[in-house]
Amino acid sequence: MIPFLNLGKVNAEYRDEIVSAMARVVDSGWYILGNEVREFERRFADYCGVSQAIGVANGLDALSLVFRAYIEFGQMAEGDEVIVPANTYIASMLAISANRLIPKPVEPELHTFNLDISRIEDSITSRTRAIMVVHLYGQIGYSDELQKLADKYGLKIIEDAAQAHGALYHCKRAGNLGDAAGFSFYPGKNLGALGDGGAVTTNDAKLADTIRALGNYGSTVKYENLFKGVNSRLDELQAALLSVKLQYLDRDNSSRRAIASKYLNLITNPRLILPGCLCQESHVWHLFVIRTELRDLFQEHLRQRGIGTVIHYPVAPHKQPAYVEWNDYSYPITEEIHRTVLSLPMAPCMTEAEVQAVIDACNCY
Ligand SMILES: *Cc1c(COP(=O)(O)O)cnc(C)c1O
Repeated sequence: MIPFLNLGKVNAEYRDEIVSAMARVVDSGWYILGNEVREFERRFADYCGVSQAIGVANGLDALSLVFRAYIEFGQMAEGDEVIVPANTYIASMLAISANRLIPKPVEPELHTFNLDISRIEDSITSRTRAIMVVHLYGQIGYSDELQKLADKYGLKIIEDAAQAHGALYHCKRAGNLGDAAGFSFYPGKNLGALGDGGAVTTNDAKLADTIRALGNYGSTVKYENLFKGVNSRLDELQAALLSVKLQYLDRDNSSRRAIASKYLNLITNPRLILPGCLCQESHVWHLFVIRTELRDLFQEHLRQRGIGTVIHYPVAPHKQPAYVEWNDYSYPITEEIHRTVLSLPMAPCMTEAEVQAVIDACNCY
């Protein structure tokens, strides 16, 4: 049996170091906003190549607090619009909607699953304030072309980097490409905690200070409240083990690349469409997503061979009850993606035999 993802096995690799980091926190007697969070923020900022990282409770909050800060600055207001890929995980859009901003879905490219930059301009209006670029499945969606477009219209670029820890665009990391980025440390992500966690990265110190305050009841000095904030903090336990796992992120991402390159080279079944990869460094293979017309039958075939798969994602955001106002809209490329995608097992701890078994099962269908 090859599960889609065995998180116990992923973390077993670092068990001793994780346990001693957690013991250190237990013994310290300090569990919220202490040295562990400060230390992880410094390490994660250095890793991403930015000056600021702010730990928050989860990836959705990371993205949401970026918009909230721009609203506090008066740079965005209720009813303003944010361009977002139509096929993203719904959290990207919820972060926009939560701030009473309006997500404007734009179709992706079929072969990379990322925003089709040539379609953005038609969706820009006088109310557009930002483009949220999602590095979906681990591949960078940002480009110089996107930056030019943002500059031309004076738009912010917000990265949803929840699936792309460590991915590079021309030597710059995800998290250092736009005005600000949101990361998730949900357990299954490339850098995963043992619970919820997230971070904002940016080179804008004022933005960072505001987000830090917003996530702590709107306060920078205890019992002095500048904003009507929320409680969204990374805790010391998660920060301590994330510092451990961050040391191995590049190694884990290389393992993912090695597995992806085997899949790309050795899966030869013409009924399966393999994912497009623009360049090695720009993809960290959070997910390996293929497309096929007979998706449900193919998933059943793999299940019978003991191989677990998951559909990311079965229903497009514009078809969800949560966005009932969009249910009649038509995004044919996005709908095509949701109808045909299937994610194969992908984890740094997969053995060569497991990878080969997945390849064999794909080729004999
Ligand atoms: C996981 C994820 C999020 C949300 O992160 P959480 O930590 O689960 O809140 C946002 N966007 C994308 C693309 C994600 O994959």
